[in-house]
Amino acid sequence: MRNKILKNKIASSAIRRRGGKGSIDVVVGLQWGDEGKGKNIDELLSHGIYSGVARFQGGANAGHTIKANGKTFIGHIIPSGCLQKDIELYIGNGVVVDAVSLIKEMRELEDLGFDVTPRLYISNRAKLVSYLHPFLDQADEYYRNKSSHKIGTTSRGIGPAYSDIRARRGLLLGDVLLPDFKEREENLRKFHHDFLNLYKEKHEFEIDEKKIEESKAKWWAAVEELKKLQICDLSFLVQKRLAEGKNILAEGAQAVMLDIDFGDYPNVTSSNTLPANVCLGLGIPHTVLRDIYGVTKAYTTKVGGGNFPARIKDQALEKAFQDAGHEFGATTGRPRMCGWLDLFALRHAIALSGVNKIFINKADICPINKGKNMKVVIGYKNNKKVLKEFPFYLNEVTSVITEEISGWGDSNHGVKNNKKVSKELRSYLNYIKRKLADLNVKIIAVGTGQDRDHFFNWEK
Ligand code: GDP
Repeated sequence: MRNKILKNKIASSAIRRRGGKGSIDVVVGLQWGDEGKGKNIDELLSHGIYSGVARFQGGANAGHTIKANGKTFIGHIIPSGCLQKDIELYIGNGVVVDAVSLIKEMRELEDLGFDVTPRLYISNRAKLVSYLHPFLDQADEYYRNKSSHKIGTTSRGIGPAYSDIRARRGLLLGDVLLPDFKEREENLRKFHHDFLNLYKEKHEFEIDEKKIEESKAKWWAAVEELKKLQICDLSFLVQKRLAEGKNILAEGAQAVMLDIDFGDYPNVTSSNTLPANVCLGLGIPHTVLRDIYGVTKAYTTKVGGGNFPARIKDQALEKAFQDAGHEFGATTGRPRMCGWLDLFALRHAIALSGVNKIFINKADICPINKGKNMKVVIGYKNNKKVLKEFPFYLNEVTSVITEEISGWGDSNHGVKNNKKVSKELRSYLNYIKRKLADLNVKIIAVGTGQDRDHFFNWEK
C-alpha cells in the first residue's frame, strides 16, 4: 500500500498545475552524490501523479539503486522509474548515452520481468559516448595521476564525450540513423586515435589495442540495437505530454555539489547538475518547473579527489559509517569517504538549487549510540578566519566549526511511523529544521532503510 500522507503532499502541489497543463518536478542530490535518490524517485513515481520520468544530464556514471518487491536493480543510465510498469522513461538531450550500458541495462530489466522498450524514449539530440571515450578518460586520469591532480572519474568516458560536444566534433544519438553515420564515426575515431597516440608518445600511456577492438565490436553491436529504439525529438514529446495535462519528474544524477560550474572545480562532474539545467537538458521552459526535491543523507559521503572538510577524522568511526551504510560506489565499488552532516554545504546547495522539499535518507545509519555525541558541521574556517561565504576552492578550508548532538545507534532501522522515531533522532531532525529555517524548505520524509517503504513522514 502506498504512503497516503506523502501522496497528499505531492498531490497538493499538483493542484497548482498550470490551467490543466502538466508540470515538471525535479529531484536532485544536495551533497556529493549517493544520497539514495533512486529510492525517493521510485517512491514519488508510485503515486500515480507522474506519467513519466526523465534524465536530463550525466551518463552511465550515475548509479541508482532501487529495491522493490524483493527485486534490486542498479541503473546507470535508464531512469529510476523503470521498475514501475506505467511510467514513461525519457533520456534527454543533456545526457551522454553509452549504448553498451543502455542495452545491457535493458536486458537486465527484461530478466527482472520489465521490458522497457515500448516506454523508453531517447532524444535524438542526446550525446553518444564512443567506444574510445572511456580509453581517453583513462589516459587523461593516468596523466593527472602523474601530475597528482587526480579527479577520480568513473572512467566511463563521460568527460571526453561532453568535451567533444563542446568542441563540436561529437556524435549525437540521432546520427546513428543517418546514412553517413559510419563516416562521421570514422572521422571522430581518427581524431581519438591521434589523441591516444599523443598520450602514448608523450606520457608512456599504454594503449591496450586488444581491449579497444573488443570495445569496438561491443559498441557497434549496441549501436545496431539502439537503432531499433524510440529515438525522437524528446523536447517536443515532453511538451506534448505537458499539454495533455501530464506531470513529469526529472531525476538528477550525481549531485549539486558536483555541478561543473558551482562545484569544487576540477573535482566535479562534467555536466550541470543544478535543477536549472532541467530546462536545457530536456528542452522545456522554466515556467513548467514546480517542486524541487532535494535529497541528503543524515551524514555526508564523498568519492573522488579534492578536500572534504566534513570528513570524520577518527578512521575507525569513518569505517563504522562505511560498513553500516554500505558506502561503496554503485558504479565503481570504491569506498566512499564519510563525514558529519555538513550544514554549511547543505545550505549552499539549497540556495543554489531552489529546493523547497527535502528528503533525509539513511537516518537508520548511526554508529554512535544514544548518550554519545556526534558532530554536525556548521561553518568553515581558513586558519583563524571564519568563512562567511562558501569558498571558491574547498582546499581553502583548513578546519570546520562543529556542534554536537546525541547519536541514536541503530534504533531507527525500518521505522515507518513517525511516532516510533527515537527521541534522539527526533531532536536531530528538529535541530536540522531550525538550522534551515530561513531557507523555506520542508523536510518531508526521512529514510530508515533500503526498501522503498522504509521511511517516515516528517513535516506536513
Ligand atoms: P543515488 O545515486 O543517490 O540514487 O544513491 P544510491 O542508489 O547509490 O543509494 C545509495 C544506497 O543507499 C542504495 O543502496 C540505497 O538502497 C540505500 N539507501 C537509500 N535510502 C536509504 C536509507 O534510508 N537507509 C539505508 N540504510 N539505505 C538507504
